[in-house]
Amino acid sequence: MLPVMDELVLVSEVSKRYDDDGQPALDGVSMEVALGEAVAVMGPSGSGKSTLLNLLAGLDRPTSGTVTVAGQRIDQLSETGSARFRRRQVGMIFQFFNLLDDLTVLDNVLLPAQLAGTPRRQARARAGELLDTLRIGQHRDAYPPRLSGGERQRVAIARALVNEPVLLLADEPTGALDTGAGEETGELLRDLNAAGQTLVLVTHNPELAARYTTRTVAIVDGRIAGGWATTAPDSRTAAAPDGRAAPDGRAAGTDGRAAGPDGRAISQPGRGAPAQVRP
Ligand code: ADP
Repeated sequence: MLPVMDELVLVSEVSKRYDDDGQPALDGVSMEVALGEAVAVMGPSGSGKSTLLNLLAGLDRPTSGTVTVAGQRIDQLSETGSARFRRRQVGMIFQFFNLLDDLTVLDNVLLPAQLAGTPRRQARARAGELLDTLRIGQHRDAYPPRLSGGERQRVAIARALVNEPVLLLADEPTGALDTGAGEETGELLRDLNAAGQTLVLVTHNPELAARYTTRTVAIVDGRIAGGWATTAPDSRTAAAPDGRAAPDGRAAGTDGRAAGPDGRAISQPGRGAPAQVRP
């Protein structure tokens, strides 16, 4: 059960050095993500975004500073402890999907549930429900190489959600998709967030950040360089780090309602009632 807290993610004075002599990849980064937020971490290539994401996922440890997710300090976990944390609390999606090509779609989605020890029947029900909601149920027995990029990313999203993570992490999730599939994926992430899923998305793409998240944190040379809301009514007047007005907020999806790409509600078991359908 989640502790009662507003901040799901708390990064405090985090630095990360990969080697002793060079510049740190992250240099004194502090940021918070509240439960239910969709935060974009935006910055140019090499600015430290993936490093930060890996620390949030417990895939790597900071050189100094603390990382707390859902009330748990994850910066000093043992390998077993961090694997357990990842299985239970975090879902990740990537630019190139990272699906296992020799497993079927269904087995790709079931794998994290099996690793977490979810009873088989329960895991299959959850996976089937997710695949149907994400409109890929008809491909459950297919192998990923047979699917389009957009379909593969939806399989990856189903896989990321199968263990009902408190935190969904996305690393350039539309970077390998054509415009249409990219927009569909972005809308799906926005809808999941509207249904209650906390999301951190790293991208170098300001449009992605502005359209599909509620807040953007800018990172440059391993340091936080600014932040602005992307949905607040006054977001147009909030200053971006370069002094220009922040990008306009997204046009839709601020009503707290969510639906899959086909208009069906996306259910987040254990997180209250499924959100309603948006036409
Ligand atoms: P971004 O995701 O914004 O492109 P990264 O977090 O990948 O940035 O990289 C930040 C800096 O850390 C870069 O200078 C990069 O070369 C360096 N870096 C990233 N990963 C490693 C690693 N495993 N070993 C050494 N240096 C790394």
